[in-house]
Amino acid sequence: MTNGDCIFCKIIAKQIPSTIIHEDNDVIVIQDIAPKASTHFLIIPKKHLKDLREFSQAERDLAAHMLFVANELSKKHLDGGDFRLMLNSGYNAGQRVFHMHMHFLAGKKLPEF
Ligand code: AMP
Ligand code: ZN
Repeated sequence: MTNGDCIFCKIIAKQIPSTIIHEDNDVIVIQDIAPKASTHFLIIPKKHLKDLREFSQAERDLAAHMLFVANELSKKHLDGGDFRLMLNSGYNAGQRVFHMHMHFLAGKKLPEF
């Protein structure tokens, strides 16, 4: 399922360039274009879903896979170091790209939330 107007669908389809950190059948991980921390990746499901509210039981495996991928990223890119996952659902929560994604953030010391 893709959306022709969606920037992340275009990235997944390789119609727009990105720095790909990881890719498998279900997700792509890219470098954020405007990083908010020294490590800032986006874990993006290939299926176009607007935000977490569109997840249902059908996304159960995908949700688990996204967390598994985050753990793999920490091992590969942070040597197991500390990181933060962030998932904005909706405009008032800070979401600006309406294709669900998870931020993977790490740095010397992230600001407390
Ligand atoms: P959110 O505010 O949670 O929707 O996050 C959207 C994120 O996508 C922001 O951190 C942007 O910097 C990032 N972003 C937007 N366009 C691109 C792009 N073409 N390539 C990589 N990251 C992008
Ligand atoms: Zn999309």
